[in-house]
Amino acid sequence: MQTGKIGVTTENIFPIIKKFLYSDHEIFLRELVSNAVDATTKIKVLSSLGDYKGELGDQTIHVKLDEEAKTLTISDHGVGMTADEVEKYINQIAFSGAEEFMSKHKLDAQNIIGHFGLGFFSAFMVAEKVEIVTKSYKEGSQAVHWECDGSPDYTLQDSNRETFGTDIVLHFTSEDAEIFANKTKIEELLKKYCSFLPVAIAFGKEQEWDKDNKKYVDTDKDKIINDTKPLWKIAPSEITKELYDEFYHKLYPMAEEPLFHIHLNVDYPFNLTGVLYFPKLKNSFEFQKNKIQLYCNQVFVTDSVEGIVPEFLTLLNGVIDSPDIPLNVSRSYLQSDQNVKKISNHITKKVADRLAELFKSDRTEYEKKWDDLKIFIQYGVISNEKFGERAAEFTLLKNTDDYYYTFEQYSDLIKDGQTDKNGKLVILYTNDTIAQHSFIEKAKTKGYDVLVMDSPIESHFISFLEHKNENWTFKRIDADVVEKLVEKEESLAMALTIEQQETLRQVFTAALPKEKEVIYNVEFAALAAEEAPVVVTQNEFMRRMRDMSKTG
Ligand code: ADP
Ligand code: MG
Repeated sequence: MQTGKIGVTTENIFPIIKKFLYSDHEIFLRELVSNAVDATTKIKVLSSLGDYKGELGDQTIHVKLDEEAKTLTISDHGVGMTADEVEKYINQIAFSGAEEFMSKHKLDAQNIIGHFGLGFFSAFMVAEKVEIVTKSYKEGSQAVHWECDGSPDYTLQDSNRETFGTDIVLHFTSEDAEIFANKTKIEELLKKYCSFLPVAIAFGKEQEWDKDNKKYVDTDKDKIINDTKPLWKIAPSEITKELYDEFYHKLYPMAEEPLFHIHLNVDYPFNLTGVLYFPKLKNSFEFQKNKIQLYCNQVFVTDSVEGIVPEFLTLLNGVIDSPDIPLNVSRSYLQSDQNVKKISNHITKKVADRLAELFKSDRTEYEKKWDDLKIFIQYGVISNEKFGERAAEFTLLKNTDDYYYTFEQYSDLIKDGQTDKNGKLVILYTNDTIAQHSFIEKAKTKGYDVLVMDSPIESHFISFLEHKNENWTFKRIDADVVEKLVEKEESLAMALTIEQQETLRQVFTAALPKEKEVIYNVEFAALAAEEAPVVVTQNEFMRRMRDMSKTG
């Protein structure tokens, strides 16, 4: 038996692993299972290159929990390690074995997961003792047994293991055992991090209904927890709409049908695959953000993609998989990383392309989806310049008769002389067709078109449009300038003296909400007709400022 001390930096690293990284301690499972996947991928590659000539056998990775003994074992049939390799790859922490392996075999980075940094030693976040029983695939290798209790001292001795591959055995600390020596917990973590890993992972047994005892019982069939060829890794030409929808429901079991999807597939100048979905957006933002899952070579990393994709894209759902996103760095670093910028621009472009294509190929269908898409597109237009430029061709305006127009088409609907005193085109809109019904009807009988602009960020969107198009000004249908567009009529005002008007004005003003931000006007001679002898209007600018401060 050999004993020794782990590489020089270790004495400092253990306390760090234990204390500071503790908040994320569940990632130990992701790290160990991805190492098992790496080792399995390596032997497959060696076999395909002819460097390994033997049988590969069943490559399923087995995760076994012994709740009583409080141990978790991860077994693979991968390349295994010789005593020297354990010495090198395990004992010398800072050494990245994957890196060396890749340069030796000139493999593409995407085949090996080596991006997480902490790796194998994350096992010590939850275990008081870790054992490795391993045998290298290399001919004539002696199997070895490594053991370490979390101090820098380890032991290494021969083992009688016969098949190549590796078993990692964790002995949970009593504290961690309470959380992790639990079948449900381990299954939950495997589902979270390993659902789409490329090698089959077995945990527990398939169950079946036992009629006699009226309960589910284990069969002797291993339960495979992952889908080794997830949808985003399959060529789009081979995927039907049903499969896209099915995958969506696998990711978000409670969600409604998505509107449509975008399949991402890039290998140059960065590697990116994924499937994004447009969900039906509800009228409130916050709870809808951050549903995209980020993967690195099919290993789940995070579902918070802020800083990686532009803000408005965080409203989309789906999966992004890229080994080119640096994962163990801070978010502020991510924002300045060139690769991340390129990836983010690419996704933005793809999203715009897809919308343009949908709009062009089937406008009727696109219009049907518009009300659900609107908030996303408006948000994109306001917050992302590149997207905004592209979106001009597929952003729609809907009027009170449910007709949809592009900006270009809508300009034709604005009447001659529908201008304010500065000569700007006045565009009339409503955000509440019921409350503002009489205003709308009046404007329509006068031949003016009225848009429905009612998304929660509409005030921001409108102000953005006015900023972009200096010649436009938007006025809500109850704004105090609208009456100037509509010819004055014979009305109640004529029948009232100035004093009577003043008295009546006071009655109405007293009944109006007391908001210092908004100025209300009580008019008797404006839009007034028999059915609406008195009209209350509001100052457009002040009202909009108030609305914007509410939506933030
Ligand atoms: P990384 O995976 O980034 O290389 P790790 O700390 O996770 O870093 O693992 C260190 C090295 O230990 C690996 O590169 C690999 O050489 C070796 N190793 C870890 N687990 C296994 C395993 N299950 N089978 C074979 N080698 C392994
Ligand atoms: Mg690793």
